Amino acid sequence: MPKSTTLDDTLRQYAVPGRFYVKQDNGRLKCYACGHYCAIPEGGRGICQVRYVEKGVMKVPHGYVAGLASDPIEKKPFYHVYPGSKALSFGMLGCDFHCAYCQNWTTSQALRHPEGPMPLYVISAQELVDLALRHNCRLITSTYNEPLITSEWALEIFKRGKEAGLQGSYVSNGNASPEILDILRPYVDFYKVDLKSFNPEHYLQLGGKLQTVLKTIELLKEKGFWVEIVTLVVPGFNDSEKELRQIAKFIASISPHIPWHITAFHPDFEMTEPEPTQASCLIHACQIGKAEGLHFCYAGNLAGATGDWENTRCPQCGETLVERMGFTILKNNLLNGHCPHCNEVIPGFWD
Ligand code: SF4
Repeated sequence: MPKSTTLDDTLRQYAVPGRFYVKQDNGRLKCYACGHYCAIPEGGRGICQVRYVEKGVMKVPHGYVAGLASDPIEKKPFYHVYPGSKALSFGMLGCDFHCAYCQNWTTSQALRHPEGPMPLYVISAQELVDLALRHNCRLITSTYNEPLITSEWALEIFKRGKEAGLQGSYVSNGNASPEILDILRPYVDFYKVDLKSFNPEHYLQLGGKLQTVLKTIELLKEKGFWVEIVTLVVPGFNDSEKELRQIAKFIASISPHIPWHITAFHPDFEMTEPEPTQASCLIHACQIGKAEGLHFCYAGNLAGATGDWENTRCPQCGETLVERMGFTILKNNLLNGHCPHCNEVIPGFWD
């Protein structure tokens, strides 16, 4: 497999003309693949570093993956989408944020930190679909780096996937534009958003804006995507009672049915000071979510250490419906998407 040695090699070798931009009167090309709306001059790059302008055309990544695996869907995490199924998961390089605690930094931040070179694997959209089918995957997921910034490539794959009966999903930071969400909607069924904080200043540190992410969550629900939300709880960064309550309140105001995954941090990349998140902190956050009206709160990344907060329980009668241990489904008691005890409809996609 060819391996690129520099950022410039990588980008130019695997770049094609993009679609998600408009030409401005000043000659700059304004990109709307994500909420940054970069207006890029000739020879320049967007904040994500992977979309650039050459000879009046915006070039975008295409035809490679930097990460590829058949993952349990619980790893994305989607807990209300076909429990126990598999998602063919691929990632590319780059991100429009620069979170100091990124757990996928070798791919997402590879362009800002080329000291950790990543091998790239050249592959076609059809080969990815064929791999998904061969590995009995139910869906294809753009993940590991920010999918919005490589939406042309994801759509090419997802369109072929749809023809083969595969559904599409994004694992995203939620820094979307309304325009790109409209374009994605026919091909992306499931959308996971990281709601990383409720503090606008913290979001600026990470490279985004809180309001843009909140708006994305609102729009995703309005437009009919299935949405699950993750908050990675970092001690000293976003673990205050006040902030966790603000996050829970906001999600509940959009819909109490949105699953909220509260996951444990471990020191990584440039954030090595905070201690790993304790199970007690995740349990407390789940209790806050419940108290604020959310029906489905889950503790993640500490398998077996958080009581029954990995399980799906009926919001009506409390019956345990799906029992999990980490990414493994131990028991699924749902009957055609209903609670077997009180017949409550449980929102999600179930077999
Ligand atoms: S994807 Fe986002 S960061 Fe990249 S060029 Fe487009 S607007 Fe800028």
